[in-house]
Formats: sequence, C-alpha cells, structure tokens
Amino acid sequence: MVRQRDSGTPAGQVVNIYRKLMRRVRWVLSRAPHMIRCSEFEDFILDYLDDDLPSAEQRKFDFHLRLCPECRIYLDAYQTSVALGRAVCDELDDAIPESVPEDLVAAVLAAREFGYEGG
Ligand SMILES: [Zn+2]
Repeated sequence: MVRQRDSGTPAGQVVNIYRKLMRRVRWVLSRAPHMIRCSEFEDFILDYLDDDLPSAEQRKFDFHLRLCPECRIYLDAYQTSVALGRAVCDELDDAIPESVPEDLVAAVLAAREFGYEGG
C-alpha cells in the first residue's frame, strides 16, 4: 500500500487523488437522504444477490454501486468467493477422502438440506 508520504511520486499522487475522491464519494453517500452507506451495503448484499430486495432498495443498492468503486470491488470479491466456494463443494462431492470424519460429512449434508450454502 502506498502511504501519504509517497505523494512525491506519480503513483503516490494518483493514490492521494483517489483517496480524496473516495472521501468525497463517501461524504455524499452518507448525506444523501435516499442513499445507503458503505457500512450498510454489506447488510443488503445477500438479498441483492438472491434478487430478494424490494424494488426501492434495489434502486438504492444499484445507485450506490454506480457511485462507489470500493463497494463494486467488494461485491466482485464476494461473488468470486461464493463461486470458488461452490466450485470446491462441487469438487468435494465427487470424492470425499476417507480421512474426513463421518460426523463432518453428515453435518455438511444436513446444513445443505436446510439451504445453507456458506458465506
Ligand atoms: Zn460504498
């Protein structure tokens, strides 16, 4: 990570401009009456990905995403993590090593029956 004292280099200047811009974006997002904040974004993410948000909340979420590159990055990383987790689970379905305790296999299968997909 580039620190403030590196502002003499071109990369440091770009980082500082980005930080100032992000502070302004967060300031706007925190004061606009119909906006969700970055800290609230995480509360919506599961419902957003499951298409379970009411349309008004969906619009707020989409608008926030358009304005906030940090939350876009967060959402991308979250989706990638979920996809990787599912891929690993699918792979595990093919061959469960004998070293995995029966109780653990039973617990994972029971969790799946109740709809838990991780996360
Ligand atoms: Zn945000």
